[in-house]
Amino acid sequence: MMQFIALILVTIGLIYTFLKPYFKRIDVETSGLGKSSTILFDKVIVMGGSVGGLFAAATLSKHANQVIILEKSKLPGKNESIVPQGSSPHILLQRGLQIADRLLPGLKQALVDAGARATDFGSSFYLHTLGGARKVSNNTGLHAYNMSRGLLESVIRSRISLLSNVEFREECQVTTLKFKEEDSALRITGVVYKDANDQQVELMSDLVVDCCGINTPCIRLFKELFGINVRKTDVKSYMAYSSAIFKVPQEAITHDIVYYMQVPPHQPYGCISYQVEGDNHYMVTSFSLNNNKVPTTASGMEEIMASCKHDFALNIVKNGTQVSDIKTYKKEGSRWTHWEELRNIKGFIAMGDSVVSGNPIFGQGMSMAAEASIVLDDLLREQGYKASFCSEFQQRLSYVLTAPWILANTSDLQFKGTTGGSSILRAFIPILKRGMDHQFLMGAKDQDYAVDFSHVMHMTKGWLKRLLIPLPIRNALGYKVSETL
Ligand SMILES: Cc1cc2nc3c(=O)[nH]c(=O)nc-3n(C[C@H](O)[C@H](O)[C@H](O)COP(=O)(O)OP(=O)(O)OC[C@H]3O[C@@H](n4cnc5c(N)ncnc54)[C@H](O)[C@@H]3O)c2cc1C
Repeated sequence: MMQFIALILVTIGLIYTFLKPYFKRIDVETSGLGKSSTILFDKVIVMGGSVGGLFAAATLSKHANQVIILEKSKLPGKNESIVPQGSSPHILLQRGLQIADRLLPGLKQALVDAGARATDFGSSFYLHTLGGARKVSNNTGLHAYNMSRGLLESVIRSRISLLSNVEFREECQVTTLKFKEEDSALRITGVVYKDANDQQVELMSDLVVDCCGINTPCIRLFKELFGINVRKTDVKSYMAYSSAIFKVPQEAITHDIVYYMQVPPHQPYGCISYQVEGDNHYMVTSFSLNNNKVPTTASGMEEIMASCKHDFALNIVKNGTQVSDIKTYKKEGSRWTHWEELRNIKGFIAMGDSVVSGNPIFGQGMSMAAEASIVLDDLLREQGYKASFCSEFQQRLSYVLTAPWILANTSDLQFKGTTGGSSILRAFIPILKRGMDHQFLMGAKDQDYAVDFSHVMHMTKGWLKRLLIPLPIRNALGYKVSETL
């Protein structure tokens, strides 16, 4: 009997030790993020000047003499986005906002000054999902800002331009990597880029940061230059979005955000409407999975919203005035590029969508890019720039990105037309589905569940005890929601 108990305890101990890193979260308030630090690098190159690249540059500006951002596109105008998905809805979750505001002090106020609308992700967020339509909760404590992606990017860019050691080079496309062999490892020593005049420019650095997004050229370059196949996990759910901005009559403004979630496995259509900058302006988006079409005209939007009973959005489209073109965007699916599996690489890390690019309907992408920044900053402050830094960074990042990856794919993999994903995750889908459905159903009845789930979705709280342990047991264990929030 004693042996049996000992065996169980050892097993639990081993599982706990194995899973522990996945639940470790860096506390934003007590982190060193945004504070001055020892200079570890002379020069750092950040490839890609979108949100991930901007967060990376701001972080590294505290650890390097000089940070150079190389961006292949021309800088867009005020309140415009540099990326094609920029005309789709973009919500910066609470965790992303907390990190970004710490990284760039005063960012929240700058967003408000630029026209972002303060909102409450509990009382002003109306959710239609399993368990029916409901206000999320009164007391989530999740206060954020609604704005277009263009406005957010624009404000972040202007904050970065104030950093004296960060330089933004537009129309500079990285074409290859420079490298050398060092102590049986590969050291990336810089890049070659094509500038606005089509000249090839060689730039050397101590660290190259890949923030080129889901289709990063670095996967191809690692194969061509070093014969390294960087493994990718793709979940192909064939997503499509169609978005436009409408000005609505005052009486139509009842909620800041109304979200009709797609409900797997039978309802692949969803819709989100949220107030953006400008008087009574709403961005309305219809989205679908598994190659289902999205509308390209306002009448098409009305049709689909009527058939899916997306009444709030239908009301906006019917009674509002369309003030922007309808823009569509398609994405094949989610991708995890497994940089964490590489060993013996020095002078190179990847962040943002170059590592994990999920299903946008969960709105986690920019927050995951912000999460990478806090992991990077924390590791540099803790260990300096050691030989094992690059693989240690990718490993730590992979731990924190696991939860959002699982959450988003649990929904996608329930749809019949979705392919890919790891066999382990697929095997757990029935259990995860039950857990997620339970959260939605209980969230409709119980405030505590709703609040918990909101925090998990906003990446502000860990997910183990919140999602996996039923509330009565949590309460019995003393995890009262009021205490843990
Ligand atoms: C429809 C849609 C809706 C979304 N909604 C949300 C949301 O609500 N909330 C949220 O947090 N996220 C959302 N996302 C995800 C979000 O857009 C991404 O997670 C985020 O933009 C990732 O930033 P990134 O800098 O890593 O990559 P990207 O934004 O993809 O930027 C990559 C940059 O690298 C540049 N680049 C590429 N190759 C080179 C090269 N060779 N040399 C130099 N530069 C190069 C590109 O021009 C680009 O500027 C959404 C995505 C989509 C598709």
